[in-house]
Amino acid sequence: MHKKMIAGNWKMNCGQSATSDFINKLEDLLESDETGKRSSKAIESELIEIVIAPPFTSIGAAVAARRSEKINISAQNVHYEPKGAFTGEISLGMLEEAGCKYVIIGHSERRHVFGETNELLERKLVATLESKVLPIFCVGELLADREAGRTETVLRQQLEAAWLSLTSDVVAEMLVVAYEPVWAIGTGKTASDKDADDACGFIRELAQEKFGAATADALRVLYGGSVKPENSAGILAQKNIDGLLIGGASLDVDSFTKIITTSV
Ligand code: PEP
Repeated sequence: MHKKMIAGNWKMNCGQSATSDFINKLEDLLESDETGKRSSKAIESELIEIVIAPPFTSIGAAVAARRSEKINISAQNVHYEPKGAFTGEISLGMLEEAGCKYVIIGHSERRHVFGETNELLERKLVATLESKVLPIFCVGELLADREAGRTETVLRQQLEAAWLSLTSDVVAEMLVVAYEPVWAIGTGKTASDKDADDACGFIRELAQEKFGAATADALRVLYGGSVKPENSAGILAQKNIDGLLIGGASLDVDSFTKIITTSV
C-alpha cells in the first residue's frame, strides 16, 4: 500500500504571519482530540504524508513555525537552471536550502496562465529529479478536451513529453504525478470518483507501457480539483488514487484538517 499524500497548494495566498498561524493551528489540531491523534499516528507510521505549498516568501515562515517534521513543505514552481541571469526565478538549490522537500511542477495555472509548455516542464522535471527536492508533477485536460473525448490523448502527450528520459527506478521512487482536470480546479466541479479513478488508472497504464508493471504499481498518483471535506474520503478510497492535491479547501485550517482526519 502506498503512503497517501494530502497536499495543500496555497497559490498566491498567505503571507508569513498567516502561514505561521496556520501551521501552529494545524499542529495543535493534530494533537488535540481522538481524530487528530489518530492522524498523527498515521503520519508517524508513514501511512499518510502532509504537504503544504505556501508562496515562496512564506516558505521560511512555514519551516520556522513547525514543531516537528509532520508537515512537509513544498514550493509551487522552480526554474531548471541552478543560478544566473533569470530575474524573478528561484532555483532548486534555493528551495532545498529553504527547507522544501517537494516542488509542484506544471500546475495548470503555470501551463495555461503563464504559458509553460511540455518542453519547458520536462526540463524542470529532469532538473528536479537530479536535485534533492522531489517533484509533484501536474497533468490534466481542459474542459474542451474532455468534451471532445481527448482526455487520454492529452494525458499521454503531457506525460510522454515529461518522462521522455526518465528511468523506471527514478519514476518509482521519486515521482509523484497529480491528475488535475483543469475544468475542476477552483470551479466547485469535482470529477466523479470513477472518472478520477479512471484517469489516474490511465496514468498508471502509461507508466506501465514505458516503465513496466512494478514501476506503474509503485508510482504515486494524486487527484486534484475542488476537493473538500465532503468529497475527499470518497475520492481517496479509489484504487488508483494515492492522495489529494487541494487548492481552496487547503486555505482553511479546519477544512484541511478534516480532509486529513477523514483520510485515516
Ligand atoms: C489546485 O490548485 O491544485 C486545486 C486543485 O485547486 P482547488 O482545490 O481549489 O480546485
